[in-house]
Amino acid sequence: MLKAMDTETIDAKTTEYDPLNTQSAEEVLQWTFEKFGDRGALMSSFGLEDVVLIDMMAKINPKARVITLDTGRLNQETYDVMDKIRDKYGLHIEVMFPDSKKVQEMVRAKGMNLFYHSLENRKECCRVRKVDLLNRALGNLDAWITGLRRAQVVTRTETKKVEIDHDHGGMAKINPIADWAVNQVWDYVKANQVPFNVLHERGYPSIGCAPCTRAISTGEDLRAGRWWWELPEHKECGLHVQSP
Ligand code: SF4
Repeated sequence: MLKAMDTETIDAKTTEYDPLNTQSAEEVLQWTFEKFGDRGALMSSFGLEDVVLIDMMAKINPKARVITLDTGRLNQETYDVMDKIRDKYGLHIEVMFPDSKKVQEMVRAKGMNLFYHSLENRKECCRVRKVDLLNRALGNLDAWITGLRRAQVVTRTETKKVEIDHDHGGMAKINPIADWAVNQVWDYVKANQVPFNVLHERGYPSIGCAPCTRAISTGEDLRAGRWWWELPEHKECGLHVQSP
């Protein structure tokens, strides 16, 4: 991973990255593969946005890397779509697991369902099962690709298509469909017959770990089903929080 950057480097990268904001998702992906090669990868949870990106990537660069973080608490439906994607695209999915010793220590000390008891416990679980794992995965990359969209949640309204990830040493964070609306995502999935997580048809716009995600009702915020017992401003697991 890159080290923290000086102002001159930040300015140069901003000048290089910002024009990509007006490019299509496919153009942004093409640029990413040309610039970063194997040092760039999609970090996928196999949500609707991620399967769109996998389909695009398979058409542009079939050898593009796809990494997934298996927290150990995912839904069966998530594993099902993972296998469907593997079969359809012949994809080698780089599955990563959290440090078993740390998970064991946490669960022995605080129980299997610690996340319901306090925000601090929830963040600890996310750190042990996801954030530490993400940092391990990013340690071997210069760019990570995500399915973030501005319309998903209040904390993502400023998301650019290519940005400097200050929380991860200044590496590039690529969000090719940052400007897409949810209906564009669905249209792409249907038009290209992309396998998707069936939970999306059961009221789950956003899917994370099984015990921390529920279906939402009509009119609710798209991320209302994630950590539904918490305030909206707390609804990030630490994977996509950008330092000011
Ligand atoms: Fe733990 Fe829930 Fe975070 Fe998954 S989403 S890592 S189960 S707190």
